[in-house]
Amino acid sequence: MTATFSDFAQDLELQPYWWEDAPVRPLPPVEPPARIDVAVVGAGYGGLSAALTLARGGRGVVVFDAGDPGEGASTRNGGAVGETLRVSFPALTERHGLETAIALYREVRDGRAWLDQFIAGEAIDCHYARVGRFVGCHKPQDYDRLARDLELRQKHVGFDAVMVPKAEVHTMIDTDRYHGGRLIRSDGNLQPAMFHRGLLERAMAAGANVIGQTRVTAIAREDKHFVLTAGGRRVVAGDVVIATNGYTGPELPWLRRRLIPIQSQIIATEPLPPATIARLFPGNRQQGDTCNLHYYFRTSPDGTRILFGGRAGGHEINDPLRRGTHLFRRMVELFPELKETRVTHSWAGFIAYTFDHLQHMSFHDGIHYVSGCCGSGVVMATYLGHKTGLRVLGRPEAETAFDRPYRTRPFYTGTPWFMPAVMCYFGLRDRWRI
Ligand SMILES: Cc1cc2nc3c(=O)[nH]c(=O)nc-3n(C[C@H](O)[C@H](O)[C@H](O)COP(=O)(O)OP(=O)(O)OC[C@H]3O[C@@H](n4cnc5c(N)ncnc54)[C@H](O)[C@@H]3O)c2cc1C
Repeated sequence: MTATFSDFAQDLELQPYWWEDAPVRPLPPVEPPARIDVAVVGAGYGGLSAALTLARGGRGVVVFDAGDPGEGASTRNGGAVGETLRVSFPALTERHGLETAIALYREVRDGRAWLDQFIAGEAIDCHYARVGRFVGCHKPQDYDRLARDLELRQKHVGFDAVMVPKAEVHTMIDTDRYHGGRLIRSDGNLQPAMFHRGLLERAMAAGANVIGQTRVTAIAREDKHFVLTAGGRRVVAGDVVIATNGYTGPELPWLRRRLIPIQSQIIATEPLPPATIARLFPGNRQQGDTCNLHYYFRTSPDGTRILFGGRAGGHEINDPLRRGTHLFRRMVELFPELKETRVTHSWAGFIAYTFDHLQHMSFHDGIHYVSGCCGSGVVMATYLGHKTGLRVLGRPEAETAFDRPYRTRPFYTGTPWFMPAVMCYFGLRDRWRI
């Protein structure tokens, strides 16, 4: 009888592996001041980064989070750091023109460079390492597509990457499954919960008041200020920044109509022998692939475990066994020798996609929004959060190419009822390699 995921997933820890070293810090729902300069809604990377910039710019800031700060995607993610947009350079050029494609890709590269300096300058201890990322081609035709994208990005923007032919894939990863790939030398990874903790500590040290377990349930505009209902209390704020991303609820209907929440999941293996890790992951790089339902994986910062992640769907899958099964299967497809490896952790979180597959920094009806990081918010939520802070401060450096028309679709209210069909369609395309 074939062994299944459930045979290797006993005593599963249902919290992120990252929380072992950096548990989410509960902050009590204390009473906020009745009047504040700026209210920030959401204490993930986006909200905290905005709050830090604002507090250092001399504004009185209160950050509200419905849960414990960081409990959203910012302490659950894979920790991949890169110059990533979900739309390739050629596709972006076709849709929006060459100038826009250059501006967006240039800025995402600048955003990654900004994050490098930020982490170093703030001395945030989060195992940040520029280890590079290998993206394996799931089907043969993906190789030419990635090569074309690389050529154009190198020509117009600069991109520290090389194509890796099929015969050399084993220098990147020990699997026969890929039809070549691309090594992005400038990418890297970090421990996401430690990064969030560093950001939280710095925002609080700068004077931001971060309040947990306090949902903002209403925001109304009155004359030149806003009245928020936060944890049932009335708070008057001069400016409002919304950074709720994949956790945006019906209380924020304008943003909710623009975001498609998608669950992403990760499993962590038991510690593996160092020789196994060294053989499977030569160079210990961040890994990804070109599947429509994208998989991403890496080793833990201590180099002992494999953390293997992938997309699921638009609705929450609560059963951790069901959740982990497809990830485990895919991991074993890539590395058959792991078929009896025990899985110790399984968790999930929500990312936010947008209809144009781009991140957005926006301003609507007097409210600032940073959102839609499409699964690459370690760099972009932090960077655009900072930019949003600068914009509230009225600084010219706030200008960004990501302040673009932010569209929704007719009749869409924020419930992605179409996602099961979309996921099924893309899953089949991946299976049939078309
Ligand atoms: C499993 C997984 C893997 C990922 N892997 C990567 C990766 O490898 N690399 C990468 O770059 N990105 C990755 N991402 C995406 C990345 O984590 C996110 O883009 C980023 O964390 C978004 O940060 P944020 O601050 O915008 O939102 P979040 O961190 O999600 O924070 C939003 C917060 O808003 C709060 N909130 C919502 N509504 C309200 C309200 N009404 N009142 C008060 N508070 C509210 C929530 O409680 C939550 O804490 C991944 C995400 C997931 C889930």
